Amino acid sequence: MRFVIRDDDPSAMTLPDELEACWGGIWDSIPVGLSVTPFRIPGTGLGVPEAYYGGEEPIPLEENQPLIRFLRELIRAGKVDVAMHGYNHTRPQGKPEYVAGEDLAKKTRDGRAYLESVLECEVTTFVPPNNGMGLEGFRAVAAAGMNVVNNQPYGRLLGLPKSPSALADFVLAGGYALRRKWGRSSPFEVQSFARFKQAPYQTVGPEADLGMLKHIFERCHAAGGLFVLATHYHAFDRQLVGGETVRQAIEELVEMARRAGDVEFQSYRQVWRPAPS
Ligand SMILES: [Zn+2]
Repeated sequence: MRFVIRDDDPSAMTLPDELEACWGGIWDSIPVGLSVTPFRIPGTGLGVPEAYYGGEEPIPLEENQPLIRFLRELIRAGKVDVAMHGYNHTRPQGKPEYVAGEDLAKKTRDGRAYLESVLECEVTTFVPPNNGMGLEGFRAVAAAGMNVVNNQPYGRLLGLPKSPSALADFVLAGGYALRRKWGRSSPFEVQSFARFKQAPYQTVGPEADLGMLKHIFERCHAAGGLFVLATHYHAFDRQLVGGETVRQAIEELVEMARRAGDVEFQSYRQVWRPAPS
């Protein structure tokens, strides 16, 4: 079984100390996948600090030089692997950016290049804001050369495929759906499409139940699957339905994985590597 940590929302609004307080005890031994937004428009969502609350102008990541220096060092040390987390992280018409946003192809290409240049690393993973992606969103991410961490069934969005690559993906998605129906595959596998791969994730946040997450972990372990644990650094002190904090839940799940003995903690780039045949 493979275990990946996904932490969403670092942006120009994030202080290095906030990330250190969450992951300082973990990333020395386990890589942390940070989902970074290159040009965050603050808005009024969860986790927006008071000083930025309601802001409507994009803030380029490089306006926060202490964060950039901090992240570059962690990336060089192999402690952090960066994913692109939307472009502005807005909610056009109340919908996720990669469902209803405009110019997604250009924004995705530019956002990836920007993150790579500012953080001096390769970015081959995309995590959609608010976990939402429409067909245009998938197309934009595939065209920009990234893989996706997302639970939405891409194949179902394809409708009647209009291009050879869409047809190939339609067939591949149908194959995954059938194999799952027949019990020949698990919900914990990486799916390979014509131009990108897609990995599922499990959320640890205020709506989650730690008992259920442990149960999912056991199933994933039995299946030898991929367990991506998704959280937000700004929610670490919030409580799950059973009263544990997000921090406690993460620590327990990481401990479970360590105790299992055969769990490999991986970065995104390891996840996308072709599976050994
Ligand atoms: Zn987010």
